Amino acid sequence: MSFRGARSSDDTPWHDLLSKSSAGGNPKKSEPVGSDFLETLRDAQGDMLCPLFVRMYFMPDDRRRVFKSTADLEASDIRSLYDGFHSPIAELDCGRKCAPHNPSGKPFCCDICHAVPAAYKSEWKYLQPNTDLWHKWRGDECEETTQSEIRQLREETPKNMVLLACLGPDQCQRDFRALSCRQFPFFPYVTADRRFIGLAYEWQFEPVCWVISNLADVSQRYRQEFLRTYDKLFALFEEEFEQYAYHSDIMRAEFRKHKRRFPLLHRNGGYYLVSAKSERLERVEVDRLPRFGVYRK
Ligand code: SF4
Ligand code: SF4
Repeated sequence: MSFRGARSSDDTPWHDLLSKSSAGGNPKKSEPVGSDFLETLRDAQGDMLCPLFVRMYFMPDDRRRVFKSTADLEASDIRSLYDGFHSPIAELDCGRKCAPHNPSGKPFCCDICHAVPAAYKSEWKYLQPNTDLWHKWRGDECEETTQSEIRQLREETPKNMVLLACLGPDQCQRDFRALSCRQFPFFPYVTADRRFIGLAYEWQFEPVCWVISNLADVSQRYRQEFLRTYDKLFALFEEEFEQYAYHSDIMRAEFRKHKRRFPLLHRNGGYYLVSAKSERLERVEVDRLPRFGVYRK
């Protein structure tokens, strides 16, 4: 499980903010910066924004630093990201909804036989001295994991990330959940014309994840925190944006193959079905969204 609306407070579409911020650059290549972040930059720099400033981040202690990669995130940055993305996905404990359908009795996303969490190396650096929750994934935590699966997972893990395994759901420490735990089952959806417009889900988990079949239960607060977190990360790290643009591409290809549309939790707070072929968005009532597996009614 390498795991806002369309308008800002002044009612300016967020992608227009991006175009304005690119100071003559190609809007399609602009960083997908959230308006909160841009306001922070404007306050400090006046009206002028250039790409260099987009790579600067004002930390809570007012230091101004330049980031080259996620490896430059310090412990306080990781803690700040965690603190800004802590709300539960729904009012109820979704683990209680899915765990009864897993023979191991664990929520699927907390079962190492179903999902291996990935964390930034900088996250691991923060977690190591602060909690005993995690260890580096060895591949032997689940008896059913094959050597070829171990090889494939390692090969597919981005260089800036590390695969981890935790003590399990009975001993989870909420404060030290990795970003991948917090975002699951969602990922930031990036359109073919390179706009981060909302949350899409990890489609491989359709048959087992209760949340995917009950998107109406995902709180607006969680959605806002998710969007703010990725607006910040994408403003800092183009490579992160590119990885999710690629993942979104794969999702479109997968759904095209099956001639299906996929649900999107849009920045504007609405629910949409997206055409995998044309990316046309249709706003729908939440009760029109599909349910899967044992969660079908
Ligand atoms: S996010 Fe999905 S898989 Fe994870 S605990 Fe909730 S319902 Fe289960
Ligand atoms: S740290 Fe907690 S939320 Fe994350 S996989 Fe482990 S048990 Fe699940």
